[in-house]
Amino acid sequence: MSDTKDTLIELKNIKKTFEDGVTVIEDLSLEIKKGEFVTLLGPSGCGKTTILRMIGGFEKPTEGTILLDGKDISNLAPNERPINTVFQKYALFPHLNVYDNITFGLKIKKMDKKVQDEKVKKVLEMVDLESFEKRSISTLSGGQQQRIAIARAIVNEPEVLLLDESLSALDYKMRKEMQLELKEMHKKLGITFIFVTHDQEEALTMSDKVVVMSDGQIQQVGTPEDIYNEPSNLFVADFIGESNIFKGKMVGKKQVEFCGTVFDCVDDYAEDTIIDAVIRPEDVMITEVGKGQMTGEVLICDFKGIFYVTTVKTGKAEMEIHSLKAYKEGEKVGLIIPPDNIHIIPYDTSINHYEGIVEDYNAEKGLVVAFDDFSLTVPANRVFQTAVEKEGMLVDHSGKEISWKGAAVVASFLPEDGTLSDEPDSGFVSGHIFNFIYIDDHYRYRVRSESEEDYIVHSEYLWNQEDYVSVQVPTDKFVFELK
Ligand code: ADP
Ligand code: MG
Repeated sequence: MSDTKDTLIELKNIKKTFEDGVTVIEDLSLEIKKGEFVTLLGPSGCGKTTILRMIGGFEKPTEGTILLDGKDISNLAPNERPINTVFQKYALFPHLNVYDNITFGLKIKKMDKKVQDEKVKKVLEMVDLESFEKRSISTLSGGQQQRIAIARAIVNEPEVLLLDESLSALDYKMRKEMQLELKEMHKKLGITFIFVTHDQEEALTMSDKVVVMSDGQIQQVGTPEDIYNEPSNLFVADFIGESNIFKGKMVGKKQVEFCGTVFDCVDDYAEDTIIDAVIRPEDVMITEVGKGQMTGEVLICDFKGIFYVTTVKTGKAEMEIHSLKAYKEGEKVGLIIPPDNIHIIPYDTSINHYEGIVEDYNAEKGLVVAFDDFSLTVPANRVFQTAVEKEGMLVDHSGKEISWKGAAVVASFLPEDGTLSDEPDSGFVSGHIFNFIYIDDHYRYRVRSESEEDYIVHSEYLWNQEDYVSVQVPTDKFVFELK
């Protein structure tokens, strides 16, 4: 199937359900090559640690297998795997000195004292803490403790080193330093590093390969450049770096319209395809009015050290632009976006589709359709083409008579036809804001209900993650189809 020649670790269709019954990973597959520096990147709670713990052997997958060099290791204990972990909290023994911390695992293996000494010397050199053997842990700085934790992990000469947010506890400067050192160490050791972070900058600077995750699912796997330049969906585009996102549509061959302007682009999709255009702030050029493809007015211009962040209002939308020049508030400017800098993501037409069952029917009220989270009462002719009732049967679009009872129906609605409300239970369903992104002049919210269904709704108002909201959609905005 895949090229397994240099594959070291393979996760195959991993599912993880915890004892409390919550499934945090549905079906995840991933290949990691020998010697690679791979980073799992995603927001807190997306399942990064869970995956790392399964690779390390601290958790067992509920379903699926983990292969190492082609052999199934899913059921091996942590110490039976050629894998070592550097935990987020360093988990050093405070009452032992550096030497005893590093050799803890070697002593269990009853390794010769002289060999132990040599190994400790070598790993201390590796982490730049030569002759620290006798120091007590409590006298070490955070950065030094971090190094000792790494030394303790690599002294076992593992094939794979797992690092869970290993630099998160360090201050900014130390962290930057350790990032470089870890990369150096990776080169010197030549082993596979699997690193976990929620910090995109850290992931982009350190990795050969980045695995972007959200919600227990892999969103994209690629080199840092791929992930930044060619985000495969809006989550990645929004999570990695800064993005301007505009809704638009294809209007011709490699021609796209957004913000009321037609642009040449390099992506080829069918005319009329609804799309989201992703534009990085550094990819827009500001010029004189009349010389650009579009015109806008400067709202704010902030100095950021090396460049300015200029926010330009164009039509209803706002665009954030990085420029080397400062612009005045209220100044009119022209904007140019070269074709290469317009990244197009076709709109996902599968969102907001819900499957239900017809539970009841009467000629006056219509059909009662029950979905997981809600039920809707609609005139029968919105589901079945005609509403001719014949002994418990209705006629569908092809003239076929079918029993309405138990008929499967798919209801859908467009994000722009929905609204959100703070008023509890004022809509057809309620849930928590799971995430949101800013598009054109409004937010696109993903609301997750109790039963884990998602509802995508646009709103110009700002809610925060976790806010509890009701989703309102007028019944006449729903589209129904017989399944
Ligand atoms: P991340 O490392 O990306 O922040 P985790 O893998 O730690 O995410 O957690 C993913 C989800 O699994 C979270 O919702 C978390 O609450 C849940 N989770 C983690 N460990 C357990 C556990 N032992 N029992 C139940 N739920 C857990
Ligand atoms: Mg974690």
